Amino acid sequence: MEPTAGTMLGDALEARGYTPRAFMDLCATVAEASGVGELGAPRVAAALEAAYGRLRTGGLYPVVWLEGASCSGCTESFAQLAPPGIAAVILEMLSLDYSDMLAAGAGSSVEAAKERTIAAGGYLLIYEGAVTQAFEGHSLRVADAPGIDHLDGAARRAQAVIALGSCAVNGGWMAAPPNAARAVGVQEYLAARDIGVPVVNIPGCPANPEWLLSVLVRLTLLGGLSATALDTGGRPRNLFGDTVHDNCARRRCFEEGRFAFAPGSAEAAEGYCLYALGCRGPQTKALCGITLWNNRRSWCVYAGGPCIGCCDSDPAGPSWFARNKAVNGADRLALPAELYAGEPTPLIRPGAVRSFGPRR
Ligand code: SF4
Ligand code: SF4
Repeated sequence: MEPTAGTMLGDALEARGYTPRAFMDLCATVAEASGVGELGAPRVAAALEAAYGRLRTGGLYPVVWLEGASCSGCTESFAQLAPPGIAAVILEMLSLDYSDMLAAGAGSSVEAAKERTIAAGGYLLIYEGAVTQAFEGHSLRVADAPGIDHLDGAARRAQAVIALGSCAVNGGWMAAPPNAARAVGVQEYLAARDIGVPVVNIPGCPANPEWLLSVLVRLTLLGGLSATALDTGGRPRNLFGDTVHDNCARRRCFEEGRFAFAPGSAEAAEGYCLYALGCRGPQTKALCGITLWNNRRSWCVYAGGPCIGCCDSDPAGPSWFARNKAVNGADRLALPAELYAGEPTPLIRPGAVRSFGPRR
């Protein structure tokens, strides 16, 4: 089913200059990100059309977006979402009642709008960035109050919290030693405060905007996310069930033992596997190779950069450079050291390395 002029959603999208084709692209993205595959797009379109009609009669879905200790990269990433894009998402589905970064206004009037939304309850809270607890929360101050006070107040009356980006999920790089700000993720912080609101974690540095869109659509229009739809880390299984390696276009080279040993080498450009350069695709669960990035143009590994495991980062663990020793000149694949010396990469022992790497 494709929304056409005359349907509520079709009219709304057309009024904003979006074609039915752009809408179907959005549905295909949601279907893919929801694990039903691109062929599920018509089902998603039908469900969205029906849900949109119900939503319009009941008003837009309120959302509060708070910034913790962040670089605002997740907001920037979401703002680059492909058409039908952020305008359609925000204006047609959601009422973004508060956002430090995206609000046109600022100051007391915006804070007052947030307080009205919180008093009414039943909104979604998107939290971006780490929760910094040091100095009784004064390590981050917003609107003349500790940052943690804003989170406490907004989380208690929210219908659900989306922890957006690796910093919000587990503190991210903000929580790396010595972690003077005592940064933690949203779920850990709320649990310690006995605030029992459901939390959906969307890791990534930044989080992929289409993953957020998929979660927003499921929470607001498609009946929500059941507990079984989340893994033990509170992440949507459909987005974080497979490893990056599972869906990598370089996977065949991995299986055949064809590896690139220098960034920017002819082999890397040819599509050889980047495992010897420290790729953490086999250890990292995320749908990057399917949803892609930058309006579905490319992604890290396709562009020649090994996956650094941003969706599976552990701020308490060793750094990426320490874990990916090939980058430091050590031998990740136990191959002859001269292969790291910039020599042309030969076809190495076809089939010697198969399905290597733990699947956590
Ligand atoms: S190791 Fe990395 S580059 Fe190689 S196939 Fe797996 S995800 Fe792709
Ligand atoms: S490919 Fe790896 S580094 Fe790139 S976005 Fe995905 S998880 Fe992060």
